[in-house]
Amino acid sequence: MRDQILIGGRWIDGSEGERIPVLDPATGDEITSVAAGTPADATAAVDVASKAQIGWAATAPRERAEVLRACWSTLLDHQDELAELITREHGKPLADAKGEVAYAAEFFRWNSEETVRIHGMIATAPSGANKIIVRHPPVGVVVMVTPWNFPAAMITRKVAPAIGAGNAVAIKPPKETPLTALRVAELLQDAGVPDGVINVVPTRNSGSWFDAATEHTATRMVSFTGSTEVGRVLLRRCADRVLKVAMELGGNAPFIVFDDADLDAAVEGAMVAKMRHSAETCTAANRFFAEAGIAPAFTEALAAAMSEVKVGNGFDDGVTCGPMINPAAIESIGTLVGAAVGAGAEVATGGSPIDRPGFFYEPTVLGNVEPSSPITREEIFGPVAPVITFTDHDEMIRHANDTEMGLTAYVYTQDLAKGLATAERMESGMVGLNRGAVSDPAAPFGGMKQSGLGREGASEGIYEFCETQYIAASW
Ligand code: NAD
Repeated sequence: MRDQILIGGRWIDGSEGERIPVLDPATGDEITSVAAGTPADATAAVDVASKAQIGWAATAPRERAEVLRACWSTLLDHQDELAELITREHGKPLADAKGEVAYAAEFFRWNSEETVRIHGMIATAPSGANKIIVRHPPVGVVVMVTPWNFPAAMITRKVAPAIGAGNAVAIKPPKETPLTALRVAELLQDAGVPDGVINVVPTRNSGSWFDAATEHTATRMVSFTGSTEVGRVLLRRCADRVLKVAMELGGNAPFIVFDDADLDAAVEGAMVAKMRHSAETCTAANRFFAEAGIAPAFTEALAAAMSEVKVGNGFDDGVTCGPMINPAAIESIGTLVGAAVGAGAEVATGGSPIDRPGFFYEPTVLGNVEPSSPITREEIFGPVAPVITFTDHDEMIRHANDTEMGLTAYVYTQDLAKGLATAERMESGMVGLNRGAVSDPAAPFGGMKQSGLGREGASEGIYEFCETQYIAASW
């Protein structure tokens, strides 16, 4: 198990010798500890990256593409081992963790194909006086800050396009899940990524780490995934140096079920949209809008499905919902559920923390929730499904869009025209139409409004890590 910082291909302790304890959320016990980086280590990582980036950017795109493809197969060769690390420090069920590794690896295969297709443009100026040449060089050094909910995939979704485009990176993984980040980095090195192109520095003090990394003049871009609250703080810091930014932030997804939906498919999709990865995803369905004709049956069937969820240690057979990440998560979920119930919501199933070691909450369905209840405005990030009944379509859409977030929305109907028309009215970057999952490395992932800036995946993903340079040329 790697438990040190990776800078310039060397595994070292932090410059002040501190450690970060890593907890098993299924028990609350300490698994191990990892070296804690300091602001000086962040500066060193950017320094090293800036030197390594020059040589890496000069390699042929095909050569970089082959390295990315080797990264894909190396990660898959270690799928079981990585999945076990993820389950150990995050808690998600092993099957979800294996799915995450496959998803994480796929960003390398996809971006190996994109790496050789970074196209520019040439045109004749309208005046005829010169040619307009447009090219897309790498931005240089990218500082990356990632969340704990996908310990592998939130790193690879950034690193694969960034290094494919010819950048070098300094990553600050979350303190909750550094073990996966460090092992992924080691495997990427084994696959042929040159020393210094990927540097990983966990820390106890994110703020001062980030300040040091972004004050370094070699840093040209910040790519962040995490909460909108922290995203705002980082954006302000980036303003000081006018850094290029990519922000994947929080969500508050509506899940809309029309009367004419296939009930079984809607419940199945709702379970995927709500419960995947222990209900700790940014794309998680956060508010269920069920039309009056289907609402009682949908609520009952969803409650039945939720009450069958086996909650427990992600390593145990049959478990489909693991622990929450920490006690604060349990408290925050409890507060939101309490407020909704206090305002008249009915508990169809669940509704309480589970009294056992570790950080567990019962899969919960709340019926007759008020659209203005705090549980519909905050990101729940836990196994709780609030159901709101609607009759008027326009009013429902107004409520669905009445949030500063705009990451994902889900729509269930058997009328394709209605489904597409509703999808078009959603103020969200992604819509699942009769589907409970939207993530795909080949599709542009990202949010509207305060859910983010920029896109990850698809062809857009690699251009996020490129500059645009125009050359006015006469010949
Ligand atoms: P978080 O915002 O608390 O932390 C994210 C990262 O930022 C962590 O590495 C954390 O240590 C770091 N951080 C916190 N304060 C910082 C500071 N002042 N300076 C620098 N770094 C700082 O989020 P989280 O709890 O780790 O993850 C959950 C959140 O992430 C949810 O809001 C979820 O919706 C969001 N998320 C979004 C996407 C997406 O693609 N849009 C994907 C996954 C998670």
